This record gives sequence, C-alpha cells and structure tokens, in this order.
Amino acid sequence: MKFDILVIGAGPAGSAAATWAARQGRRVALIDKARFPRDKLCGGLFTERSRATYRAVFGQDFDLSRAISRTEIAFWHTGRTLAVLHDIPPLHLTMRRDLDDTLFRHALHAGAADYSGRAIAQLSDNTVTFRDGTTISGDILIGADGVNSIVARHLFGAAFSGDSIGFGLEIEVPPTAQDPANQPLRIDFAAASWGYGWSFPKQGSTTVGVGGLHAPNPDMKARFSDYLLGLGLDPAQTRFKGHYLPFGDFRQTPGRGPVLLAGDAAGLVDPITGEGIALAMQSGQLAAQAALDALAAGAPETALPRYRTALKDIHRNLRIARRLRRIIFAPRWQKAFTATFRRSGTVRMQYMRLLAGELDYPELARSVVARLPRYLLNALRR
Ligand SMILES: Cc1cc2nc3c(=O)[nH]c(=O)nc-3n(C[C@H](O)[C@H](O)[C@H](O)COP(=O)(O)OP(=O)(O)OC[C@H]3O[C@@H](n4cnc5c(N)ncnc54)[C@H](O)[C@@H]3O)c2cc1C
Repeated sequence: MKFDILVIGAGPAGSAAATWAARQGRRVALIDKARFPRDKLCGGLFTERSRATYRAVFGQDFDLSRAISRTEIAFWHTGRTLAVLHDIPPLHLTMRRDLDDTLFRHALHAGAADYSGRAIAQLSDNTVTFRDGTTISGDILIGADGVNSIVARHLFGAAFSGDSIGFGLEIEVPPTAQDPANQPLRIDFAAASWGYGWSFPKQGSTTVGVGGLHAPNPDMKARFSDYLLGLGLDPAQTRFKGHYLPFGDFRQTPGRGPVLLAGDAAGLVDPITGEGIALAMQSGQLAAQAALDALAAGAPETALPRYRTALKDIHRNLRIARRLRRIIFAPRWQKAFTATFRRSGTVRMQYMRLLAGELDYPELARSVVARLPRYLLNALRR
C-alpha cells in the first residue's frame, strides 16, 4: 500500500497530524500499536491553551461533557497552602482514554486509514512493516509515537537522554476514598525535586501524581508515598504507574529528511508546567502542514526545514521556560520563589494566564523578572 504520509502514533500529536493532512485530501495512514480507546498515563489537565489548539486543528469546540471544569486552584508547598486562586481561566480535567479516542475518531472521520492495533516489526524512512508481514510506504513519515518513540530511536539511536528526561508516577483514587466533586484542584511545589505533585478531580476518580526531572529524583516512589500520606491516602492500597515525559529537553532537529517528529517524540513538553497535550496537537498540525507543503512542491526532503521554521516560536518559548524554571525548581531558590509567589498576585495570575494560553513565556518572564529580588535575577542571567 502506498500513502502520501505515514503517521506513527495516534495520541494528540499523531491524530492532529493525520486529521490535518487527510482533510487536505492526502492519503494518510494512521498507525498505532494500541486499539482505541486505550489508557495513557497523564494528569489529563486540558487547559484553555489546549482547547484553543483543539479548535484550531479539529475545527470545532472540545466537548466538555465528560470533563470537570474548575476556576479555582490551590497551590501548596511542603505541606502548607501557598495560595488559593479564584476566578482563574477555566481548567478542564479529562481522562485520556476519552480524549484520545475522540482525537483518533476525528482522524478516521477525516479519511485517515486505520492501522491501529498493529505492531510494527520493521521501520525505515518511508516504509513500515507490521508483524503480520504487511508493508506500507509513504513519501513522508511523521513519528508521533510518544516519549519512547521508535521513530526517534531509528533516527538518532535513542528516544531521549536519561540525563534530562522527566518521570511521573500516578494513581487513580476511586470515589470511595475521595469524592472527586469535593476535591480541590491542587498543585504541590516541592513534592518532587525539580517537579511537583498534583491532585486532579475527574468524573469518577481523582488522578493523583508526582513528577519531575528523573535524575534528581532516584527515590520518586518514596516521594510519591510521602505525598499520598500527606493527602491522607494509603500508598500500600494501590499500585503506582509510571511513565517518562520529556521535561525541557526538546529535539533541536526534530527529524531527518522526509521523517518528522512531533509531540513527546520531539520532546515538546512545557518544562515548568509539564503540559504536553497542547504542544502535541500543535506540533502534529505543524508537521502535517510542513509535509503538505513539501509534497505540493514535489520535494518531500524539504519537509524538515519547513517544519523547523514553523516550530521556531515553540522552541523559543521552551528555551525561556527552561531558564525560568531554575528559579522555580532549584532547591536553593525555592524559598525566594515561594515568597514571591505568595506575595505577588500578579505573578500568580500571570502563571494562570500562561496556562490558559493568554500569554506566552517571553511575556511571563518580563513580568516575573520585574518582581524578583536582584540576587535571583542574577542567578537567572548566569
Ligand atoms: C505522569 C504524566 C502526567 C502528565 N500530565 C499532563 C497533563 O495533565 N496535561 C498535559 O497537557 N500533559 C500532561 N502530560 C504530558 C502528556 O501526557 C504528553 O505530552 C502527551 O501525551 C504527548 O502526546 P503525543 O501524542 O506526543 O504522545 P502520546 O500521547 O504518548 O501518544 C503516543 C502514541 O503512540 C503510540 N505508540 C507508541 N509506540 C508505538 C509503536 N512502537 N508503534 C505504534 N504506536 C506506538 C502509543 O500507543 C500512543 O497512542 C503528562 C505526562 C505524564 C507522563
């Protein structure tokens, strides 16, 4: 079978790419090892940034009927409330099982060929051979197969670097232990080193997790147990589930020739908030558009330079976020940061506006920098 574009991975990045390209009339194969609906370890926080991206890519508003929406959030630090914010731009809590199934169905509806539930045996730049022996090929391949990407491994020998990768642990707390409707949406700075903890109420359960950079947290399970105990939950009652996540170390060159990487496979996760769904959908769309333009020009090998140009803004934001996070997460600056966060309503609100997609990192950096003590500023410049 010959296609214009092969997309490997049908999460937010892959389904966005496949939908975008199929809607332009291109022959697209959407490949995933899983059958949908399937679970994906994730907080499922779907911000207004995600919602706007969803609208831009899929051409309709996101159906929130299976989500919980909140306009209040509590920030904690080492067991004490740091701030409770009211009237923030809404935050939506989804289950990835539902969300990803919806995105996948959009792609099929747009005309992508369904290659889900198929294990890949072999991969080259433009062909995929499945375990049953079937081979399909395409002029352009988009690797949207997540943090453990086999496409990234095929191109670069490894899916990610162990020095800079993030890692998260989560459990779903059933309503018998906690009624999600009465739980606040809560984020705990310092629940992990260079990371945080979260408690996200959903319809039917509460997702509780801890995540951050993997290297400074060799004891993430112990940190998570402590966090659960602090929430009044018994760590012995549930099995933790873990998953890597890119956390600031994006790929400067997200592909090679006619092969592009999108979403987690390209390392596109916000290094402060850990938000990856919006960037996955956006990069999927940008990869697909670069592929479409390259195909229209009759030069599939030009897809990568086109895509790199399209990603410039995202990369710039992530670079600034990586610098900023030093003053948020570095243990030596935490005290000063939490004091600033507690004191400055503007910094807190700007942070929430960032999550809502109403402002970007360059703007946030300007606002934060204006309010920082001089010694922190100097640390940031170094
Ligand atoms: C613990 C944790 C909590 C998080 N919380 C949030 C949050 O609250 N909000 C947020 O915005 N982001 C969150 N993230 C980040 C978010 O989950 C990811 O950034 C996002 O899922 C990336 O989407 P993607 O499409 O690139 O990859 P994925 O969602 O990982 O999708 C990849 C797809 O590729 C398929 N695949 C993988 N390997 C193969 C293969 N060999 N062959 C075929 N198919 C394959 C998989 O089955 C999967 O369907 C969290 C991440 C973690 C780990």
